[in-house]
Amino acid sequence: MKNIQLHNDTAIPQLGLGVWQTKDGREAVNAVTWALDAGYRHVDTAAIYKNEESVGQAVADHSLPRDQVFLTTKVWNTDIRAGKTRQALETSLRKLKTDYVDLLLLHWPVDGFVPAWHELERAQEKGLVRAIGLSNFMPENLDQLLPETNVQPCINQIEYHPYLTQPDVTAACAEHGIQLEAWSPLMQGHFLEIDLFDRIAEKHGKTAAQVIIRWDLQRDIVTIPKSSNQGRIQENCSVFDFELSAEDMAAIDALERGKRFGPDPRNFDF
Ligand code: NAD
Repeated sequence: MKNIQLHNDTAIPQLGLGVWQTKDGREAVNAVTWALDAGYRHVDTAAIYKNEESVGQAVADHSLPRDQVFLTTKVWNTDIRAGKTRQALETSLRKLKTDYVDLLLLHWPVDGFVPAWHELERAQEKGLVRAIGLSNFMPENLDQLLPETNVQPCINQIEYHPYLTQPDVTAACAEHGIQLEAWSPLMQGHFLEIDLFDRIAEKHGKTAAQVIIRWDLQRDIVTIPKSSNQGRIQENCSVFDFELSAEDMAAIDALERGKRFGPDPRNFDF
């Protein structure tokens, strides 16, 4: 498992398990346990996913020490708007059964994100979070936030996959040393409709999902594919034993068409 160094000296495992829509209870406990058994050292949850309790249970019950697992959670929009970021973090920590998270993100750029960011800074100072970052922040949101920050965001987690690489966000993040992290890297399953991945996969004796995850890794993107199926969880992390050629990478790059599968951060209503 490869780590990427964030600008505050924290290292994030480049591949993690996403758990959006993984049901609290047995499904989430199993998914996280299988992932840790398979070699993942990074789990991406959020308050709004309503599975922090099971994620925390699986991490607590696993033989790995807590400091070997990189845990991300996110502050939901209603808490950002209501000025309740600190309380939201306290609730997440309690549910996750831990006294710190490795990464805390503001989930969406809603009204109140500047004071919410200052709460994240205070939480980091107190040792409740090791790194702080953003999700779904567009360049104009960064322009508003960055002049107000005392601590620079480490990460921006955005929708990112072969149909959508958001070059404007990528450039803005690169300019400020903010690491990009891909959500919905597997296009929420729609990659299965695209023949190119199968053709490249066949050449390498790999699967289409592994090809896309490998494309993220070679683009230096942190990626968090979701599955709650044990075989797929294992498959999705078996991506460190092959390399896509420059030609493979270029063929996948050429799929870009600005197509989203999730909500548009410039036009959402939640
Ligand atoms: P994804 O792109 O990771 O796709 C997941 C789907 O792909 C699965 O449900 C399954 O149907 C399919 N799949 C997974 N592995 C497969 C395999 N090996 N073979 C065949 N099919 C396979 O979808 P996602 O859940 O939207 O995104 C990943 C993670 O990103 C989430 O779980 C969550 O942690 C995060 N996320 C964050 C935000 C945000 O606003 N910050 C939004 C969406 C998702």
